[in-house]
Amino acid sequence: MSGSGKTPPGAPEETGFDQVLAFTIPGRQARGRMVRLGPVLDQVLAAHDYPAPIKHLLAEALTLAALMGALLKGDGDQLTIQAQTRDGPVSLLACDYRRGEVRGYVDHDAGSVAALGSNPTLAALFGEGFLAITFEVGKKRQRYQGIVPLEGASLAEACESYFRQSEQLPTLIRVATRASGSGCVAGGFLVQHLPEGEEGRERLHVRLDHPEWEHVSVMAGSLTHAELLDSAISLEALLWRLFHEEDEVRIENGPALVRGCRCSAEYYRTVLARFPAGEQQEMIGEDGVIGVDCAFCAKRFAIDPAELG
Ligand SMILES: [Zn+2]
Repeated sequence: MSGSGKTPPGAPEETGFDQVLAFTIPGRQARGRMVRLGPVLDQVLAAHDYPAPIKHLLAEALTLAALMGALLKGDGDQLTIQAQTRDGPVSLLACDYRRGEVRGYVDHDAGSVAALGSNPTLAALFGEGFLAITFEVGKKRQRYQGIVPLEGASLAEACESYFRQSEQLPTLIRVATRASGSGCVAGGFLVQHLPEGEEGRERLHVRLDHPEWEHVSVMAGSLTHAELLDSAISLEALLWRLFHEEDEVRIENGPALVRGCRCSAEYYRTVLARFPAGEQQEMIGEDGVIGVDCAFCAKRFAIDPAELG
């Protein structure tokens, strides 16, 4: 790496992908995020050898992580999505977002997933599952977690339920994903009504029939999957198409989306060094090292106990 910040020669010039666009419509008390993911999905998926339905599921989850994560403002703020079940072919889906960095993985039974065919429903993949969404915000990493049943036709619908039930925020979410060659592209759109303003958290008496919100959700509802995925239309142009009749739509570019993971041998050495010597000893495998797996990267780190101090 030269660190010059230039695109290396021969690298594909992808425009419009791995981007976040933030917007607010002050006259309608609405805010939203739009995302398009391309190379970043391929980078996350490349660490795993997933069948097509699982790639599709993880691409949708990463898109949702980018949409909801981009609502956060602080550098260390994090959004985590976890979908879990006891009885489905997919036992765990984990995804998170921090300042533009996304990562994710899916634990599943390959044989059971294969038996479901090429286009399994969410219910077929998870059985009776639940979705936990956690926002960690501020210097003290204050946690806000909501858990909703994994119901509806898609993860996006389950996320809408989360906002409605846990946050009392009317929210519309659209996600489209498409296999592209060996990889994936995705587009996502989220808009929500903030009757108490951007910062308010106490929303005990939200009127779900608010006319301003109804207008926004009707306009947003006309957005198609084809538009979300069409990289010939920029996110700004798409937003304009939906809301050009509004008095004011404020937009702001969010951080570029990149694949990111906090795993490193150094990081695990620091974590392991906090354990008492006796417990460290018990972790040593037959090969004389402490093996630590990063599920996000599908990578094993061999930590030499002698380096733990
Ligand atoms: Zn990792």
